[in-house]
Amino acid sequence: MAIPQAIQRRGFRKWYERELLVGHSHLVLLLLSALTLLGGMEAFSQPDGQRWLMGSCVLVAAAIGLWALRRYLFLLTRAEHIANQAVCPQCQAYGRWVVEPQAAVPRETEGTASDEGAPAQMRVCCRGCGWRWQIEW
Ligand SMILES: [Zn+2]
Repeated sequence: MAIPQAIQRRGFRKWYERELLVGHSHLVLLLLSALTLLGGMEAFSQPDGQRWLMGSCVLVAAAIGLWALRRYLFLLTRAEHIANQAVCPQCQAYGRWVVEPQAAVPRETEGTASDEGAPAQMRVCCRGCGWRWQIEW
């Protein structure tokens, strides 16, 4: 689900909370992968063990751990980037806004060359004072 639709559906605070939970679940996966990696390395060093099995276990744990680290950093960075723009410039209320439905512009619809690499934006409206501004991610 795209970010504007997800925020429209749940509200910003619930969306943000959910992003942090999902991000930190990847951190837990990273820690489990590190434990598996250490256990596999120790078992790999045993002379009577099945070295090919422990070697493949170490490789799989390392791959999962790298993916989990990358995903963790991506989710938290994106959530923080949006949260840093979530304060209403007019009344300073945090996270009390709604996404304006037709104004959410997905990245793919911008076709000009100058817009490539430009961040996607959504237009939001403060529920307290009605101020409108853009949030990009
Ligand atoms: Zn406001």
